Amino acid sequence: MLKGGGRHGAGEVIAVDRNYVPMQEVSRRRALCAVVAGRAHVLNPATFERHGNLEGRLELIIFPHAQACSDSKLLLGRLERRVLRRDHYLCQYEGCQRKATTVDHVVPLCQGGSTTWQNLVGCCLSCNQSKGGRTPEQAGMILKRQPKGPRAHLFERFEELLKRASAA
Ligand SMILES: [Zn+2]
Repeated sequence: MLKGGGRHGAGEVIAVDRNYVPMQEVSRRRALCAVVAGRAHVLNPATFERHGNLEGRLELIIFPHAQACSDSKLLLGRLERRVLRRDHYLCQYEGCQRKATTVDHVVPLCQGGSTTWQNLVGCCLSCNQSKGGRTPEQAGMILKRQPKGPRAHLFERFEELLKRASAA
């Protein structure tokens, strides 16, 4: 496996599915392979037109047969580890500098909270225990930031790319 560059893959190509929904970021090399193999097409981000020019900037490709998998599929397995990684292994409660060693349900399961990215944060044991089965409001605790889904930054990059392309 090749190691990716930056955490947010700034140099990577955004791949969209047949509905132009961003699916994932792929390396330039993988994008080229998919295009050459006929599984994907290069898209002009300004017009969404397909083109065969592989010389120019490669920023967006379409997999015309793919459909972006649902978040729930991405969640299977290793959810806790991925939540901790997303939160940089730091406790997500304001005023706490400890390492996150546990994963906390922001809205507790016993109050109807779900096991989803948006409801899970990295948390140190001490905060987790003092919060107990309460919401942050009930416990008088504040989150450092709102937890986001795994593909939030991909959607942000996609928006930026379209904005940049239409301004050019
Ligand atoms: Zn803490």
